Amino acid sequence: MSVHLDKCTNDRCGHLFEVEQFSKSFGDGLAHGMIECPYCGTRKNGDARLIYISRKLIKEIEEWCSIDRPASPALTPSLPLHK
Ligand SMILES: [Zn+2]
Repeated sequence: MSVHLDKCTNDRCGHLFEVEQFSKSFGDGLAHGMIECPYCGTRKNGDARLIYISRKLIKEIEEWCSIDRPASPALTPSLPLHK
């Protein structure tokens, strides 16, 4: 298992978030091969053999990492914040 940073592909969101990846055998019943943004729920494909668990960054890290974020990352109110 390993942890890396990923960036939301939704340009209205664009948040960085933390992704932990497991081999498929660890997470029975969890969707595999899918990385989901914990801020807006946008999904993108990852490695189909892996399970991804994404988490919001703590604010300090996010601010430190987000220097090249879009200028206006306003979320559309209709986007679900949580599943
Ligand atoms: Zn997002």
